[in-house]
Amino acid sequence: MWLARSGQLRQSVAMNTSPTDPQMLHMAERAIISINPATLEELGRVPKLYAAEVDSAVTKARSAQPAWAALSFHERAKYILRAKDILLDRQDEICDLIAREVGKPRVEALAGEVIPVANLMDYFARTSAKLLRDEQFTLSVFRNKKSRIHFIPLGVVGIISPWNYPLAIPTGEVVMGLMAGNAVLLKPSEYTPLVGLMIGEIFRAAGLPEGILQVLTGDGATGAALVAAAIDKIFFTGSVRTGKQIAETAARRLMPFVLELGGKDAMIVCADAPFERTVNGALWGAFCNCGQTCASVERLYVVEPIADKFIAAVVAKTKTLRVGIDGTQPTDIGSLTNANQLRIVTEQIDDAVAKGACVLTGGKRIASLPGYFFEPTVLVDVSDSMRVMQEETFGPVLPIIVVRNEAEAIHEANRSNFGLLASVWTKDTARGKQIAAQVEAGTIIINDLIFTHGAAETPWFGVKESGCGVTHSKHGLREFVQMKHINWDVLPLKTNPWWFPYSEKKRRNFKLLAKVLHQWGLKKWI
Ligand code: NAD
Repeated sequence: MWLARSGQLRQSVAMNTSPTDPQMLHMAERAIISINPATLEELGRVPKLYAAEVDSAVTKARSAQPAWAALSFHERAKYILRAKDILLDRQDEICDLIAREVGKPRVEALAGEVIPVANLMDYFARTSAKLLRDEQFTLSVFRNKKSRIHFIPLGVVGIISPWNYPLAIPTGEVVMGLMAGNAVLLKPSEYTPLVGLMIGEIFRAAGLPEGILQVLTGDGATGAALVAAAIDKIFFTGSVRTGKQIAETAARRLMPFVLELGGKDAMIVCADAPFERTVNGALWGAFCNCGQTCASVERLYVVEPIADKFIAAVVAKTKTLRVGIDGTQPTDIGSLTNANQLRIVTEQIDDAVAKGACVLTGGKRIASLPGYFFEPTVLVDVSDSMRVMQEETFGPVLPIIVVRNEAEAIHEANRSNFGLLASVWTKDTARGKQIAAQVEAGTIIINDLIFTHGAAETPWFGVKESGCGVTHSKHGLREFVQMKHINWDVLPLKTNPWWFPYSEKKRRNFKLLAKVLHQWGLKKWI
C-alpha cells in the first residue's frame, strides 16, 4: 500500500533545500514522499516510475484507446458525468487532501479546484459532441468540390502538471483529452502525487475502462521519460525552464505540444477604478493560494492621483489577513508549498530591499509556524534591477508601482517577457477595453482577475514566454484532436481545367478568372 500514512517527517526546513534534493523527495530510491508543507508531516509515499514503466503504460494505453475512441460522445460523457458525481460526493475528503498536500485553506480547495472542475466536467461532457462536430462546405472557386473536416482523436496523450492547483489543472486536461477520444497518461507533480492518484481513483470508481487513464507518479525524470515516450502530443503546465526543455525534446521528433507556463501578471489601476472592489481584488489577486497562482498579480501599476490612498488601503487590509494552518485556526492564507518556493520568495525580498525597495508590511518568513509560511508582503520603490520585478515570484508578494498615467502603466506592463493574464480596473468599461487592447497578454480582464480558469468556455493561454497553445474552451478541446480533411467532387468530370494538356485557350480562360477575382473577389460565394 503506497499511500501508507506515517508520522512526522524529521527533516530540516533548510532554506537551501532544492526541490530535487534527494533527502527532501526521494528518501527511498523508488519512492516519492509527500509532505504537508504547513506541518511538515509525512502524508504518504508513492512509487517513482522510471522510463521502462512509462513505456509499458504507453503500450497499455495504445491498445486500450481504439475501443474508447469507438464510443460515441454520449457514451464517453456518461463516464465523465459519473466521475463528476463522485468528485462532488467526496468533496470534503478531496478538499482535505488538497489542503494538506498543498498547504492551502480548504475553502480555496473547494472554490478554486473542486467546483471549477465539476463545472468543467459538466461542460465538456455536454458540449464536446457539438464543439467537435464535423464541418462540411462547398469550396468557393472550386465550385464542383466539397470538403468535410473531421476532428479525430490524437491517440495517446501525455499530461504533465504542476502542484499549485493539483486537482483543477490536470483534471481539466484529462477530461478534454478523454472526451476527444484519447487515452491519457497523467504525470502529476512530485509535490502533490496523492492528489494525482486521487484523480485516477475517481475515474476508476466511475468505471473508466482499464488503461484509458493512467497516473504515472514520479519526478522530473519521469516527466522527461513521458515526453520521450511514443505518445502523440504532450500537454505541459509548469515553469518556463521546464517548458523549454520539453519543447526541445518534442521538436526533435516533431511531436506537437501545448505549454501553459509562468506569468508576471500586471494589474492596472486607473484613476476612476471602483475603489473598494479594486483594493479587495488586489489583495485576492496577489495573495490567494499564497501567491502561487500562475495568474497572480505580481506587478500592480496605480496612477498617481489615487496612489497614496490606494496603497494605504491595500496595506491596511493586508495586515488583517490571517495566515495559518487551515483546520486549526481561521485562515485566509496558507503556507507556501515547498522549501524551494520559500527560498525564492526570501531571496527576491532580500534582493529588492538591498536595492532600495521599501517593505510596507510583511517581508519575512513566519518562524513561529512549523511549515513554509511567509508573511503577505507589500513592496514599493521597486525598480527593474530587482529580481522581484523580472522573475516570477510565485509567493505572497505584491510590488506596487506608481505611474503618472494609464499610458505609462500600459508601457510598463508590456515590458516583460511574460504575457499570461492582466487586469484593468476602471468604472469606464469602454476605456477598459481600449486599454486591454494595448496590453500584451493572453487574457485581459476588466475589474476582475484570475477567475477565467474556472470558466470552462473561456480560453486560457499565454503569449511571449507564458506559453503556446490553449487550454479550456472549444479552442482547448481542439488541441486534443487531429484534423482530417476529406474532399470530393459534386459532379463527376473527366478532367479538371488545370490538368494537362495546356493550351493558349486555357491560358486565356485563366486570365479571365484572374480578372474576375480582381474585380469582384469571392463576394459572390462568401
Ligand atoms: P515545474 O516546471 O518545476 O514542474 C512542472 C511539472 O513538470 C512537474 O510535474 C515536474 O515533475 C515536471 N518536470 C520537471 N522537469 C521535467 C522535465 N525535464 N521533463 C518533463 N517534465 C518535467 O513547475 P512547478 O514548480 O511544478 O509549477 C510552477 C510553475 O507552473 C510556475 O511557473 C507557474 O506559473 C506555472 N503554472 C502555469 C499555469 C498556466 O496555466 N499557465 C498554471 C499553473 C502553474
